[in-house]
Amino acid sequence: MKPINAATTGILLREDSIFERSSEGRAGFDIPTPKVPLKSPVKYRRTQPAALPEVSELQVVRHFTRLSSWNYAIDLGTFPLGSCTMKYNPRINEELASLPGFCDIHPELPPEFCQGALELIYNLEDALSKIVGLDACTVQPAAGALGEFTGLTLIRAFHEKHGSHRKYVLIPDSAHGTNPASCILAGYEAVPIKVGPQGYMSVESVEETIKQHGRDIAALMTTNPNTLGVFEQNISQIAELLHGIGAQLCMDGANMNAILGIAKPGDMGVDVMQYNLHKTFSTPHGGGGPGSGPVACRSHLAPFLPNPRVRKTENSFTLEYLPDSIGKVKGAFGNFGVMVRALAYIMNHGSDGLRQVSRNAVINANYLRARLQKKYQLGTQTAHFHECVLSDSKQIQANGVKTLQIAKALMDYGYHPPTVYFPLTVSGAMLIEPTETESLQELDQFAEALLEIAERIEAKKETFEQSPTKTFVGKVDEVGAARKPILSLDDRSI
Ligand SMILES: *Cc1c(COP(=O)(O)O)cnc(C)c1O
Repeated sequence: MKPINAATTGILLREDSIFERSSEGRAGFDIPTPKVPLKSPVKYRRTQPAALPEVSELQVVRHFTRLSSWNYAIDLGTFPLGSCTMKYNPRINEELASLPGFCDIHPELPPEFCQGALELIYNLEDALSKIVGLDACTVQPAAGALGEFTGLTLIRAFHEKHGSHRKYVLIPDSAHGTNPASCILAGYEAVPIKVGPQGYMSVESVEETIKQHGRDIAALMTTNPNTLGVFEQNISQIAELLHGIGAQLCMDGANMNAILGIAKPGDMGVDVMQYNLHKTFSTPHGGGGPGSGPVACRSHLAPFLPNPRVRKTENSFTLEYLPDSIGKVKGAFGNFGVMVRALAYIMNHGSDGLRQVSRNAVINANYLRARLQKKYQLGTQTAHFHECVLSDSKQIQANGVKTLQIAKALMDYGYHPPTVYFPLTVSGAMLIEPTETESLQELDQFAEALLEIAERIEAKKETFEQSPTKTFVGKVDEVGAARKPILSLDDRSI
């Protein structure tokens, strides 16, 4: 088997833990003996030296450089994780975010000393509102999930201000797991709506639920395009139904990469939505952050936005505290560095460029879909937008090989696997989102890897039970890893 992704050939450097490189008395520094007597109170002194590795500077450099090369990242290769929009982050964004005026300011500076930062927040909120056709925006939430929570909390504040205490939020069953979780945190109960065979919600299913729960429904929360990469074709009609009972339409905007400059959620009847700047607007993510999940809304929800709001006066930027605000959802103004990158990205592209981003993202996903459907069952027949979903049914039929093994086999071809077993509505789902930043050549190589895996399964030669075999750590015991995690050197004997 030839590894298709060239990044996997060549030298692979093993690396033990840095403690195993330790040798007594070795150090990376040499501090002169102090000429003054040591004065620290005895009670604060260690009785034993700290158990730190004793290594030279070069050992430290090599250790961490080697470890960093084990990390699979977008800067190394295609990262097809569906629903994650793992796109390339242009370097100019990093350069701007590290300008001293941006990265050295303190979040508690009075407004007169950070006018530039406030202007950036103001301009970003303005640009984001315009992109989605809504009236106001806050950049405070630190991630998509926190944005969902913030949006639902705005809805709650709105209903309560009008003396309406509602209980339920409707959520299609293709939703990302954070959607029902955010509902619970915002004090609502999630009511699932079944998506139809086409992969989107039918008007009838929403009507039925409305008949059942009526004015106890606070909102419906939907992702559009949804997690199958399918556009919710009935969204405007659904919005009307909801508005008819005073409920709100809340959109999970994590998939905006599909519709930038093409369709505006505001035009679809959406009342409030969040974005994921760390997906659509290219700022790096993975490994836990930092992210940013701004929320945009219509004017009737704006009085409840998190405090403080940045306002533009004739010749400066000031802070305003809204009396009906839901309060703060994140310290200071949120993750500011992410905002700098996102505004740089938006301004770099302009409105034409953003439309091109989405067009290319959609065509890339559809190109892969067209190539892969020769060997894989499609998760849905409906036209996909920015991601495509496959199922493992043909491979199960051919040789009992499931999605998990296909994903592991892909690692031996040098690729990070796609999102697997999500969305839950497709059995054995493989959700692939190539994004617009992959070239035709990369897409072809990735498709060839998946097609070759399918061919090897079909020929009944391989089940990939032992895959991956070319990684440092081979097939792992996933149940064991969850039940008996090895968290320190002392656990290693387990
Ligand atoms: C990524 C994602 C989220 C969660 O966003 P975080 O920034 O990880 O909290 C929510 N919904 C969808 C559809 C997503 O893809």
